[in-house]
Amino acid sequence: MLAKYRELRNARAGVMQLGQDPFGVVFDRILSATEATLDGNRVVLLGTNNYLGLTFDQSCMDAAARAVREEGTGTTGSRIANGSYGGHAALEARLAGFLKRRHAMVFSTGYQANLGALAGLAGPQDHLLLDADSHASIYDGARMAGAQVTRFRHNDPEDLRRRLRHLADQPGEKLVVVEGVYSMLGDVAPLRDIAAVKREAGAWLMVDEAHSLGVLGEAGRGLAEAHGVEPDVDYVVGTFSKSLGAVGGFLASDAEDFDLLRLASRPYMFTASLPPSVIASVTQAITVLETQPLLRGRLHRNVARFHAGLAAAGLSTGPSASPVASIRCPDQGTAIVFWNRLLAAGIYVNLAIGSATPGGKPLLRTSICAEHTPEQIDHAVVTIREIAASLGFFQTVDAAE
Ligand code: PMP
Repeated sequence: MLAKYRELRNARAGVMQLGQDPFGVVFDRILSATEATLDGNRVVLLGTNNYLGLTFDQSCMDAAARAVREEGTGTTGSRIANGSYGGHAALEARLAGFLKRRHAMVFSTGYQANLGALAGLAGPQDHLLLDADSHASIYDGARMAGAQVTRFRHNDPEDLRRRLRHLADQPGEKLVVVEGVYSMLGDVAPLRDIAAVKREAGAWLMVDEAHSLGVLGEAGRGLAEAHGVEPDVDYVVGTFSKSLGAVGGFLASDAEDFDLLRLASRPYMFTASLPPSVIASVTQAITVLETQPLLRGRLHRNVARFHAGLAAAGLSTGPSASPVASIRCPDQGTAIVFWNRLLAAGIYVNLAIGSATPGGKPLLRTSICAEHTPEQIDHAVVTIREIAASLGFFQTVDAAE
């Protein structure tokens, strides 16, 4: 059965010839939100989505530990078949309140939130207009919906407008789907322009705030808040696995009859619900978002320090100063060697190659955390700079942009 993956096996062998297996890293111990040990060596974690460092927040850990003691380790079933715990409903109410939406429902992962939202909302007669750089869960949700899919050029509202005009006479609903912060390059959607196009076309708009929740906006509600277009966003999708430091996902909306989705969304119905510990830590993490805005300030100071350090070295990190910063590499071999040398120097980042990257161009993806110390950031900048210089690819990258 696996013979069809011969090419994948060869590609993997090629990657491993150049050092460690970047897709099979196993940390010995996670020490904090920003440090771990790997093969006995301490490494700085610069490749998580732990933007606020809440995986080690004492109040979130305490809430999770208390929930395990009081309610056990798991729910062992789906909410439709086996019932909800009080915490599920309470978290949904907290989320809806935080996001200023009438309704919210939680899913067991962010991936399933996109599957469940898209397959629950759209059917074969409907049109989904997806940004070309959309996350795999959005593409997979569209496929599960069986809807008609139109991709528009990444972050290009004009292209979206053209495509919506082209579909104007077609029956079915039109739902535009974009992300707040794109996970590979850290660039943000031009949401005001996209909202204007959506209004003009009478379409619906869904924003996946996976990487922007807790990060952008005065209150941390995400890009739609930061751009002042929340009323134009009909559906908000997000995840608990990044700034909220746990696992799970959600869909929130003001839509009438929202609760029908609980009976129409297979990725919600046919999987076990989130365990009490996760529900408890996420509920507490929302309290932290609401009560500790300084955390976001610390994140943005770290982000500014990191981007400025790399820019001073002539390294381009992408279009926006966001907590995701990516260093594009001229070719796959350089990216793999760069990744290995960084790890050997005690810096863990993400290697992205192949179809997961925009345009298939290899890149090193870094993500910044509010808990990184200035020393960790500076050490990372100097190390990245030195290795990039030794690989001598600055001009190639800048010329290619
Ligand atoms: N949406 C986006 C934009 C993502 O980047 C991700 C994860 N990287 C997801 C959804 C899925 O979230 P999760 O990992 O929590 O399942």
